[in-house]
Amino acid sequence: MTVRPETLRSSSLPSASAMRIYNTIEQMRSASRAARSEDKRIGFVPTMGALHEGHLSLVKAAKAQSDFVAVSIFVNPTQFGPNEDFARYPRSFERDCQLLEVEGVHAVFAPAVAEMYPGGEATTVMVHGISEKLCGRSRPGHFHGVATVVSKLFHIVEPDCAFFGQKDAAQVAVIRRMVRDLDMRAEIMVCPIVREADGLALSSRNAYLDAEQRKTALVLSRSLREIEQAFGSGERRVAKLIEIGQALFRQTPAARLEYLEIVDPDTLDPVPQVAKRSLVAVAAFVGGTRLIDNVLLA
Ligand code: AMP
Repeated sequence: MTVRPETLRSSSLPSASAMRIYNTIEQMRSASRAARSEDKRIGFVPTMGALHEGHLSLVKAAKAQSDFVAVSIFVNPTQFGPNEDFARYPRSFERDCQLLEVEGVHAVFAPAVAEMYPGGEATTVMVHGISEKLCGRSRPGHFHGVATVVSKLFHIVEPDCAFFGQKDAAQVAVIRRMVRDLDMRAEIMVCPIVREADGLALSSRNAYLDAEQRKTALVLSRSLREIEQAFGSGERRVAKLIEIGQALFRQTPAARLEYLEIVDPDTLDPVPQVAKRSLVAVAAFVGGTRLIDNVLLA
């Protein structure tokens, strides 16, 4: 969707809350630079839109920790595989902007694909190793697309701090490593997973689930909770903890487990012995919808 630069105003809000929408790199960059010239701390939240409370928790954190908040809404084609859901990924731009304006966001960056990749993509950022673990194994090229677009967005917005969700734990590991290896100046902030009351992690892809699938999808968070409980009771054997989670999936044939792993949250390598801060990560298909969830053991 191409949206002309404009100011979204709501009559119920004071004009001080006016939020700008930018479609070009040049506009976004100059807005950021203007904020920086006023000594403002720039907080940035990259998203693919179809916003929910999980995204808004990142926006709230950015608001609390910065003076100028920019949110990008860009469904990045290069992080989707050829048989994935790029074309039908939920898009709700107008509603997203209304939600962001209520949060007091200053700038929305919503470029068209042609603005971001006018000549295709000859230069990519690859975070080797980590990008082939967890989701990277079944989604080859996914994290190269993520690292490249986040790197481009960082160059455009030039944030002091950028906010990501723990929901995408592997993405966090990839971005942290990229920032470290390429000496990027953005401070990476990670916010906790926001869940529905019954435990389902919020995701834009939950919109694909029908009522029955919505119930089935609870197997992800339940398996994590059971593993967490066993860990809390003193179980430290990886195989035993994984078996506890897998057993729940065996009882739920409508869900197809892709992986259930206990890994180091920084390297994403399997841990030999489970300890505090080990990451339990799960991915599963419910119908045609691929869902992920995780927990950091504490
Ligand atoms: P997406 O629009 O799916 O690319 O997500 C944008 C950001 O929101 C990413 O940093 C996600 O990790 C984060 N996010 C998505 N779902 C949640 C959630 N349930 N809780 C916290 N953060 C989330």
